[in-house]
Amino acid sequence: MEAAARWYESQELDESICLLREPHVDPFARCNIWLVRGSERNLLIDSGTGLSPLTPVLPGIDGRPLIALATHIHFDHIGALHEFSDRRAHGSEAAAFTTMPDEVTLAHVFRELVRPVTQLPAVGWRAAEYQVQPAPLAMTVADGDCLDLGNRRLIVLHVPGHSKDSIALFEERTGVLFSGDALYDGELIDSFPSSNVNEYCATMERLKQLDVSVGHGGHGPSFSNARKNVLVEEYLAGRREQGCPRPAARVTGAGGLKHEVD
Ligand SMILES: [Zn+2]
Ligand SMILES: [Zn+2]
Repeated sequence: MEAAARWYESQELDESICLLREPHVDPFARCNIWLVRGSERNLLIDSGTGLSPLTPVLPGIDGRPLIALATHIHFDHIGALHEFSDRRAHGSEAAAFTTMPDEVTLAHVFRELVRPVTQLPAVGWRAAEYQVQPAPLAMTVADGDCLDLGNRRLIVLHVPGHSKDSIALFEERTGVLFSGDALYDGELIDSFPSSNVNEYCATMERLKQLDVSVGHGGHGPSFSNARKNVLVEEYLAGRREQGCPRPAARVTGAGGLKHEVD
């Protein structure tokens, strides 16, 4: 318990949303773990690398049922998923959750980092032995599904591109978006084996349409709607020449979009 408490850091964003992170994990593999407390149910969005038990450090969950949702199957988002019983993710990689093969979770990328951690999660821990624990899904989710927490209702958006199973969650009443690795304020990655640039562009066009009050990504700081649109346009501008479909009504040149960053 004490070791776990030292492994994670947490930050209460408001009375219902808590952000947890693993500060001793290499920034590349340090995801944002979001706990959303609802009146009937709690929701955990991603679960980190699994290097230290996560359950003992979840604050204020008060015995209500907890849904543990993975935004996608990459190791840095699903390591502690096995600790929970109500495990959910998009159905397109459902089979892989039962065996967690490296080629899908990318756990080998973590093993091969020069310095994966700055502090050992346990005595005798070795990066070379790192594996993601199998965590068969209790249920799959699909685009348009609603996760009903009682006082909060989050809609599942299938947002492939970074990975084929990437999902985001959008709360229409408040405009809160949890976007996983589909969109965060940092360098987006579309070069993994299950990445697809064309699908990513379609995802970005969809995210552009959302009116977001705040975006909570899979990595990096949270972002405003204006910043979301800059991140979307930056991605699209950089990928247009690779054959991303350009919407017919679009008249803006890619060159003009770059300047919005500064
Ligand atoms: Zn990822
Ligand atoms: Zn990630």
